[in-house]
Amino acid sequence: MSTEPIIRIENVNKWYGQFQVLTDINLDVAPGERIVVCGPSGSGKSTLIRCINRLEVVQQGRITVDGIALTDGGKAGAKQVDAVRQEVGMVFQQFNLFPHMTVLQNCTLAPMRSRGLSQAEADEIAMKYLKRVRIPEQALKYPSQLSGGQQQRVAIARALCMTPKIMLFDEPTSALDPEMVKEVLDTMITLAEDGMTMLCVTHEMGFARSVADRVIFMADGRIIEQAPPQDFFAAPKHEKTRQFLGQIL
Ligand code: ADP
Ligand code: MG
Repeated sequence: MSTEPIIRIENVNKWYGQFQVLTDINLDVAPGERIVVCGPSGSGKSTLIRCINRLEVVQQGRITVDGIALTDGGKAGAKQVDAVRQEVGMVFQQFNLFPHMTVLQNCTLAPMRSRGLSQAEADEIAMKYLKRVRIPEQALKYPSQLSGGQQQRVAIARALCMTPKIMLFDEPTSALDPEMVKEVLDTMITLAEDGMTMLCVTHEMGFARSVADRVIFMADGRIIEQAPPQDFFAAPKHEKTRQFLGQIL
């Protein structure tokens, strides 16, 4: 890799109380790289990606995002955390939209509050991204009036309105009815085609095969194996990886 990584995770260890949830994590992500993270439930996937925008703190190791040091023995200034959160968008399994706000208001809130955009500027950006996720006609509805797939696309648009350099997805299709999975994956594919740096926790292995540059397999808080999808699926090296793939494929 010749370019500087946009995310650098070095020797990270993290505990919840006595329980070690992440062990010796090292991961460099290149700008524009698309990574799929998979592994059994409880293996630390969510914890790992939540560390990247500091929804979780780590007790040991270093995390650097676009040159901003997020961790320094567990301490990072509010300034660094704010700076990183401006660059990193996140989409969760449960869409986490504000139920009392319209789709448009959900999308304009953060840009107005933290970027200081005017209503008109924020509306314009929001409509641009609602078009990108193909639901501009839903702008004035409330989340409860939308399908799950539409709500998740709003959540993606809302994150994009902050013009992040990196998007983190934590099982974005796991809460959806099967017929809505594809519309959300298609939106993510569009983002990938536009060159977005993406880390996606997902068990959608079709998505991994067609979009990922690299698949990372986690078990028991460790990165057990990582490879380009063609190698990962054709010749998984580790017994735990084979077991996992045997269960989900
Ligand atoms: P995954 O996303 O791979 O399912 P998680 O990162 O959510 O895994 O969780 C990894 C482990 O850490 C699990 O055993 C989980 O119960 C535990 N865990 C997650 N969050 C917390 C927390 N806030 N406090 C204590 N334990 C937690
Ligand atoms: Mg999880």
